[in-house]
Amino acid sequence: MITVTILEFAMSVTGLPPYDDANIFARILRGEIPCKKVHEDAHALAFHDINPQAPVHVLVIPKGPYVSIADFGAQASDAEIAGFWRAVSKVAKDLGLEAAGYRALTNMGVDGGQEVPHFHVHLFAGRRIGRMVPKAEG
Ligand code: 5GP
Repeated sequence: MITVTILEFAMSVTGLPPYDDANIFARILRGEIPCKKVHEDAHALAFHDINPQAPVHVLVIPKGPYVSIADFGAQASDAEIAGFWRAVSKVAKDLGLEAAGYRALTNMGVDGGQEVPHFHVHLFAGRRIGRMVPKAEG
């Protein structure tokens, strides 16, 4: 539907710097907004998505101010990158997702459908997640 497409487009962000310190995940990191935390360490915070798209839908975010996977890969230190990706794997393992499997996904920019301008990886699990990418419309 065109209305939905325009709305989704309008809600998407570029995924490129500058970093907006007022974004919702920055506020969660500062403790200004609550979250259902599942893991925290020096480099990452993981919490349940507020609008889950699967029985398990967890977000893993780095603690540093990175807008997207592009910004993170270009600007984060080796320690931040290693620490973050180890946390992603650990969260999935600790939640017991490895046996049945899960999907790890990140959206970048407008075509990627990114809505929150702080890099995050989605973990989806608890059912067959289905098609990786929807069929093109029209
Ligand atoms: P994106 O589209 O940027 O990849 O995903 C953003 C995700 O953040 C969405 O799945 C959305 O439901 C989630 N989200 C947005 N606001 C909040 C919030 O305040 N708390 C939590 N836990 N998740 C949020």
